[in-house]
Amino acid sequence: MDSRMLPTRFTQTNVGDMFIVRNAGNLVPHANLCGHEEITTEPAALELGCVINGIKHVIVCGHSDCKAMNMLHMMRNSDRTLQEMLKLSPLKAWLMRHGHSSAGKFAQLELSNFQAPLVFQAETPMRRFIAYIDPDNKFSEEDKLSQVNTLQQLQNIASYNFMRDGLTRGRVYIHALWFDIYTGDIYYFSRQQKMFVDVNENNMEKLEEEVLKYYT
Ligand SMILES: [Zn+2]
Repeated sequence: MDSRMLPTRFTQTNVGDMFIVRNAGNLVPHANLCGHEEITTEPAALELGCVINGIKHVIVCGHSDCKAMNMLHMMRNSDRTLQEMLKLSPLKAWLMRHGHSSAGKFAQLELSNFQAPLVFQAETPMRRFIAYIDPDNKFSEEDKLSQVNTLQQLQNIASYNFMRDGLTRGRVYIHALWFDIYTGDIYYFSRQQKMFVDVNENNMEKLEEEVLKYYT
């Protein structure tokens, strides 16, 4: 929801091309965290897009200097309970509840001194991929967390029963983009290259090939 992010501009999309859902931290609640009595707009929007309107590609887009991710980074080792957070701040409670799994993955990364690859799940539990986070060490810890968080949402999208059929039969694919607000660079997560790759004129064709080969 960052005011510096204009997805229709950086994806050069037009009327009718894209459904957009924006929220603090580009978080998709995991199905297990949407209980019987609570529902959030993100899964409802996924159903509207993928089941009712037949969308084939879902893209989670994160970005640099994300204020929500900066906050999650700051509170990642907090020992406050969710109940306490709910009283204090809806934003912190939202991040604690739905950013918890990203913070856990980030802790793994920290343990390896940001060197070891992480494993994420995509369309199905069997379809896992490996990710090296910021191997050139260009970004801050907060931005690394933002990239981890963006990839973690793929698994959360796949956690919904109503998505399962489309995802297992290859009618729906999930991707990750990451936008560097300060340079305007757009990164596509390449499962082939196991990292976020800066999309530019030199590699556009190669990335297109990857998308066509694996995700159509
Ligand atoms: Zn943000």
